[in-house]
Amino acid sequence: MKTEFSLTQLADPDIAEADKILRACVHCGFCTATCPTYVLLGDELDSPRGRIYLIKEMLEKDRPPTLEVVKHIDRCLSCLACMTTCPSGVNYMHLVDQARSKIEKDYTRPLTERALRAVLAWVLPRPGWFRASMILARLGRPLAALLPTPKVAAASPTLLRRIKAMLALAPSGLPKPGPAGGSVFPPQGERRGRVALLQGCAQQVLAPRINQAAINLLTRHGIEVVLVKDEQCCGALTHHLGRDDDALTRARGNIAAWLNEADRNGLDAILVTTSGCGTVIKDYGFMLREDRDFAGAAAKVSALAKDITEYVAGIDLQPQRQHGDIVIAYHSACSLQHGQKITQLPKELLSKNGFVVKDVPESHLCCGSAGTYNILQPDIASRLRDRKIANIAKVKPDMIAAGNIGCMVQIAGGTSVPVVHTIELLDWATGGSRPGLN
Ligand code: SF4
Ligand code: SF4
Repeated sequence: MKTEFSLTQLADPDIAEADKILRACVHCGFCTATCPTYVLLGDELDSPRGRIYLIKEMLEKDRPPTLEVVKHIDRCLSCLACMTTCPSGVNYMHLVDQARSKIEKDYTRPLTERALRAVLAWVLPRPGWFRASMILARLGRPLAALLPTPKVAAASPTLLRRIKAMLALAPSGLPKPGPAGGSVFPPQGERRGRVALLQGCAQQVLAPRINQAAINLLTRHGIEVVLVKDEQCCGALTHHLGRDDDALTRARGNIAAWLNEADRNGLDAILVTTSGCGTVIKDYGFMLREDRDFAGAAAKVSALAKDITEYVAGIDLQPQRQHGDIVIAYHSACSLQHGQKITQLPKELLSKNGFVVKDVPESHLCCGSAGTYNILQPDIASRLRDRKIANIAKVKPDMIAAGNIGCMVQIAGGTSVPVVHTIELLDWATGGSRPGLN
């Protein structure tokens, strides 16, 4: 794609990066076929190619984003299916990240929308606040039924519609909090490795059992696990809201905390059980590439970051139970399959450890969770969830496995089949307890 940035514009490293990405696009349109919003809405401007044109125009003209640009970028799930499909290697992720950041800086959203986004950006990365908000949401749930639901999917969902979606996501009860930052879990037997385990923010409130399963499996196989004390939210949630200052501050804080731990006690890896977070941590090196003080450290952290399945694949797991009769529908989280290109590994691990693993039809399509998307774009998100659940039902599973808490909550909201994390199943197969039901 031909671009027309001025030399002055190209002196800005972000614009130079956007120029490189845009020039790689040959507007072939292959990406449209696998884009969930294009598949649902059929509008070229809701396809990757259409969005790329909108972003190009916005950046080249260096004008504040228009309502049209904002509408179509907001509808993008950042699922990155387009990056998997694109034959030219267009890095849509870095382009849309830049667009979201520009929208956040240069576009004034209506007051209610600004307020909602500010609340989400404040509450979600803070487990204490998130826990309190879930309790409040649970109390407010009966009100959700009284709120109006539009019959036709709205172009811009109303605040009420979004509140209703938020209330619907609140669980009926919350588990006890998991172990605190600073905890160290010694290995059983000879120590074979030492890792940090990302505590996550929403996940540690909604499902501390996931990291507990990871700790159980790892320590059982000789790996010491540390929950690093000063770690905070990885920044993924605010990054996807375009709030880069917040996201980068969090990234710097985590980098300092993890490398401090690595220097003092050694770390073989930083393990992540929420693939949405893993994709962003693996991108810290890029996000901080222009930061003289942090670029090297960020690249080091990105190299240390691993999805839990990547690390577990390198351990000689000791299966203790065979579960050959249990059919698992494996839901491939977008951040894992498109963001981190981890597609077969979780399924291979599950199969090797005695489960019957079934691929879900249309597995490339997002379930509609996508960070805060199911709150901000509830109508598209619900349609994607219903489609995902219908596809999952086709394989008649006993359980559904996924590697991302956002997908787990989204899918669990529409099915009675238990939704568990891949690591819970692997822990179970190697001597742990049976994964909890929804
Ligand atoms: S598939 Fe790639 S090169 Fe083709 S239009 Fe989409 S982003 Fe551009
Ligand atoms: S990230 Fe997903 S929703 Fe956004 S353009 Fe790409 S395929 Fe479509």
